[in-house]
Amino acid sequence: MKRLPLIVYIWMSILLLVTTTISVSYFMKAVNLEVDARIASNDNKKKIHLVLISQELDNPYWRQIEHGAKVAAEKNGTILEYLGPIVADPAEQLKFVEVAIASKIDGILTQGLKDSHYIEVINNAIDRKIPVITIDSDSSNSNRLAYVGTDNYAAGLMAGKELISVTGASAKVGIVTGLFNAPNLSERVRGILDAVKNEQNIRILDVKESKIDRVGAATAAYNLISEYPELDTLIGTSALDAIGFVQMLDNARENNDPILKNNERIKIIAFDDLQETMEYIEQGKIDATIVQKPYQMGYASVELMLDYLQGSNIVTMYNTDISVLKSANMSRVEDNQ
Ligand code: BGC
Repeated sequence: MKRLPLIVYIWMSILLLVTTTISVSYFMKAVNLEVDARIASNDNKKKIHLVLISQELDNPYWRQIEHGAKVAAEKNGTILEYLGPIVADPAEQLKFVEVAIASKIDGILTQGLKDSHYIEVINNAIDRKIPVITIDSDSSNSNRLAYVGTDNYAAGLMAGKELISVTGASAKVGIVTGLFNAPNLSERVRGILDAVKNEQNIRILDVKESKIDRVGAATAAYNLISEYPELDTLIGTSALDAIGFVQMLDNARENNDPILKNNERIKIIAFDDLQETMEYIEQGKIDATIVQKPYQMGYASVELMLDYLQGSNIVTMYNTDISVLKSANMSRVEDNQ
């Protein structure tokens, strides 16, 4: 066989070297990419994904819960989504829980409701090994892991005692509650009624609903004053109620509304320490408020959930602090925050 010229062998060797180098470098790159991808996917796998479902997305009280939950999630490298109906709507709230279950989320933090369907849905999540912690309001008849929030009966008793103190144990009272079917708010009303049950000169005239909305609270209060002209005290059991009362009363006063005919200042007891509530306390328009700890609720519920997911036993009842705030002790409570 005729031998090829030397130059051809040289060219063939160079070609072989080049193609081998290219293939080896592609192979290395591919291996590296795969390793990178594996590391990335392990990272994602490690990240726990939680959801917090609120009663009303933009309610400033719920935003404080969200803030606490996000800080705890970030500290622990956890992903936390915050969802909820635009306007309080138990049916829609339930749908958010159902969707979270379907998406096989690692854990659900949600406000508890009394509704039997809601309890079924929570139990369904637990059956599918998706832990649920109720927050702000409990669903004690469900199989939820734990409740994080105020002892609402105790908060109601506290509000009732404040009512006695602010009115000198003599008052004709209208109560405005957020939603009749919210277990936390019914517990507050029960506490208020028990606190004053032996008071001869305190009469609870009626209880109306505000739909946890300040306009709803203003309307409920206006209707109470129109129906019961003798009313001299209002209690609002959810965060925006008393703010609605003050705005309605200011407006009625400006317009010389005849419902304010007896011209006495209506005493007001509130819940929570939203900024407007604090301002109205400073201005002497709200007499006292029962302060909850929404930030602490959000923070503690995430930490409890993570403890559970990491295999620890957790408490089933985690009550956050409550306190009374009135102009006289305003600075003391602020210092505690
Ligand atoms: C209650 C919440 C409610 C909020 C409404 C708070 O006092 O604890 O259940 O969603 O008020 O503004």
